[in-house]
Amino acid sequence: MTPTPIRVRFAPSPTGYLHVGGARTALFNWLYARHYGGTFVLRIEDTDVERSSDEMVEGILVGMRWLGLDWDEGPFVGGPHEPYFQSGRLERYRALAQQLVDTGHAYYDYRTAEEITAARTAAEQGDTDDWSHDRASRDLDPAQAAAYEAEGRPRAIRFRVPHGQTQVRDIVHGDITFDNATIEDFVILRSDGHPTYHLSVVADDVDMQITSVIRGDDHISNTPKQVLLYQALGAPVPEFAHVPLILGADKKRLSKRHGATSVIEYRAQGILPEAMVNFLALLGWSPGSSDQELFTRDELVRAFSLEGISGGNAVFNNEKLAWFNIQHMMRLSDSEIVARVESDLDAAGLWRPSFEHGHDEHAFICAVIALLKPRLHALGDVVEQARPLIAREIVYDEAAVAKHAGTPEMRAHLSALADACEALEPFDAATIEQAVRGYAERAGIKAGAMIHATRVALTGRTVSPGLFEVMALLGRATVVERLRRLATR
Ligand code: GLU
Repeated sequence: MTPTPIRVRFAPSPTGYLHVGGARTALFNWLYARHYGGTFVLRIEDTDVERSSDEMVEGILVGMRWLGLDWDEGPFVGGPHEPYFQSGRLERYRALAQQLVDTGHAYYDYRTAEEITAARTAAEQGDTDDWSHDRASRDLDPAQAAAYEAEGRPRAIRFRVPHGQTQVRDIVHGDITFDNATIEDFVILRSDGHPTYHLSVVADDVDMQITSVIRGDDHISNTPKQVLLYQALGAPVPEFAHVPLILGADKKRLSKRHGATSVIEYRAQGILPEAMVNFLALLGWSPGSSDQELFTRDELVRAFSLEGISGGNAVFNNEKLAWFNIQHMMRLSDSEIVARVESDLDAAGLWRPSFEHGHDEHAFICAVIALLKPRLHALGDVVEQARPLIAREIVYDEAAVAKHAGTPEMRAHLSALADACEALEPFDAATIEQAVRGYAERAGIKAGAMIHATRVALTGRTVSPGLFEVMALLGRATVVERLRRLATR
């Protein structure tokens, strides 16, 4: 028998942007599909019309594309089970709800919201077992039902929870047994004809032939109801893997209080998608025997297994994410970083067409990146750190000028250093260093003082990468020009 091909899905409700927990769920599904050469389906669960919006759908897609989580079936891609928006599948849910009524697995409930509330309140005060009030319409007298029909009363459809127990087999949490007496006869189709989550999710998972459901463990309590629905529909129950919640450093559920929760905010902060993927993968999953932490996307695909998901909650650690970002940034080529910051540099008015790959200043901009790289924490740092090195016009920090190059003597030294630079051969970091230090010694001033003043002259700032490397990078003409400019200011 050939093994069933793996089919997984990520099924976000577009009531918010792609948050960190959702992105991690999407990633685990994607990794599982890619590991087994399976199919990754993206399905938008937009049955909650009030709270869903196109903008949120777009936000989710943007987040997934940024992380490189490409889907094989779903919005824009299509596939054999279209549509991949639940709002387009309502007829199917209604038909399945009717099928469940016809097969005796579900029944009509004609009660009004008021009647249900009254029954619930009475049940809470009395000693009836938990859910008997919700089962009140189970065996409605057919004459009464006919009367309600004649009256045109709206009716919901409830699932008839059978006696017994329901077992959920979960790869992460093991087998969990639920006593059916603790499960209410849940509504599957509301009286307005809208399905509830349980019905739509199971209907789609059945129709889309989903073999494995990987999702947050806040859905564990929903699972027995869904297992009952699969059974009632005569469909195979998929394997389940419920992934532990993500907590903030204070062990509370991750929320805005802990910082950004939408993945796109991390893009804006200059976090690399490679770093985010690596970081998210290790939130609740580990490669087992090895203690490897740094993974490329391909390495993750190779190493991923559902067995590696731990049952314990995962803690979101911002410092760790920052560390991953630095590690992944160090692994990018200078030219790749240039490509990724081009639009930021352009927006800051710092981009020149000659920086483009294959153009005459490409080597220069790559050298700028190489020099900054050890000091970068995020791509977003590039613009500010590169500015003094690539801007045509230098902007002085006046306090720095006053502090390090404020005196006529120091300005004269800068001018003299400019003269020395004109004759310097070769104009490289080592030779420049000798020249600056040699000049300071001959002039009888501290090398540190000369270096500070020179840095202000060249960058306008007190902080920069190594001064001699900066000078070599800027080149003789710019160095001489900037030294003279501050000297004569
Ligand atoms: N739309 C549901 C959610 O966003 C999907 C749950 C599931 O994966 O079954 O929580």
